[in-house]
Amino acid sequence: MADQDTIFSKIIAGEIPADIVYEDDAVLAFRDINPQAPTHVLVIPRVPVATINDLEAEHAELIGRMYLAAAAIARNEGIAESGYRTVMNCNRDGGQTVFHIHLHVLGGRALTWPPG
Ligand code: 5GP
Repeated sequence: MADQDTIFSKIIAGEIPADIVYEDDAVLAFRDINPQAPTHVLVIPRVPVATINDLEAEHAELIGRMYLAAAAIARNEGIAESGYRTVMNCNRDGGQTVFHIHLHVLGGRALTWPPG
């Protein structure tokens, strides 16, 4: 699927609504439509990258920016000290369903390990 066809590209373009909680010049973050925890936010880059496998050296700073955004969101959500989890799924066995990379930020309850 071409990235411009993903639901996340439509959210970036403002073509479909999202509950945006953070944005800067590099990333956008919004609440997951099907939350798996009291806080479940998706941090996505503005530039399209389909999967972790498609990352290039030029994206190194971008990944850092995604994590800085995740930490800021966790502080804003009040879960920084209680704790949270960041997850980026890749391809079928990783459970990826939207092919525009995204960092899940999950918290607000005790999360189990290992994941299913
Ligand atoms: P993945 O399974 O690819 O790691 O995660 C994709 C996530 O995107 C899922 O948690 C799913 O609930 C979320 N999602 C899918 N479509 C939409 C949408 O239209 N809006 C929002 N806010 N989240 C979505």
